[in-house]
Amino acid sequence: MDLEEKKKQLRALYDEYEEGVAEFKKAAACEAGCADCCIGVGDIDITTLEGVVIRERVATSDRPLQAEIKAGLAQNKAEREQGKLSRCAFLKGDKTCMIYDIRPFSCRQLYSVKRCNGAPPTIHRQAVNLARQTVNEMQRLDFGGYSGHISYILYLLDKEDFRRRYLHGRSDPRKIVDFGRSHGILINRFVSPCR
Ligand code: SF4
Repeated sequence: MDLEEKKKQLRALYDEYEEGVAEFKKAAACEAGCADCCIGVGDIDITTLEGVVIRERVATSDRPLQAEIKAGLAQNKAEREQGKLSRCAFLKGDKTCMIYDIRPFSCRQLYSVKRCNGAPPTIHRQAVNLARQTVNEMQRLDFGGYSGHISYILYLLDKEDFRRRYLHGRSDPRKIVDFGRSHGILINRFVSPCR
């Protein structure tokens, strides 16, 4: 399957999930400008396929913004490596997301029926189960790739050798074994049993 087809299927998985949780999300207390889940960012994990989509969007930004995002990602990575929660590099000053229409699934599955006020979000159990299924499907779709925290996956994709291998279907986990272990990177083909 070529990359464009995979991206199309990724969008279809997002849409399928949104359809499945539409009724639940009607009860969400979330509103624009509340970005608790983007500031105390815990597990915003993405697949390499989602990372490619984000990279392509960043490449269409002007140079100063690209530099700002790059610095934000480096800071996010460094803070995560120190075990700290860290503001997402894509969160704008007005607390909206600069890549909202292509945001990764980790962000799409987050909503809360109560205002979080520093606490974890309150999500319907059925929505959590559907999100797990969707993550499985995404990892199966991105069979030759990896999953991990957003700034770690984008860091890997920034490396030409890694990116070239991934895009040509020649990913080699041995090339990232140390980074993968220390940063909790999952190999998609070793996770996600079929539903
Ligand atoms: S990508 Fe967007 S929605 Fe997701 S954590 Fe970052 S700013 Fe928030």
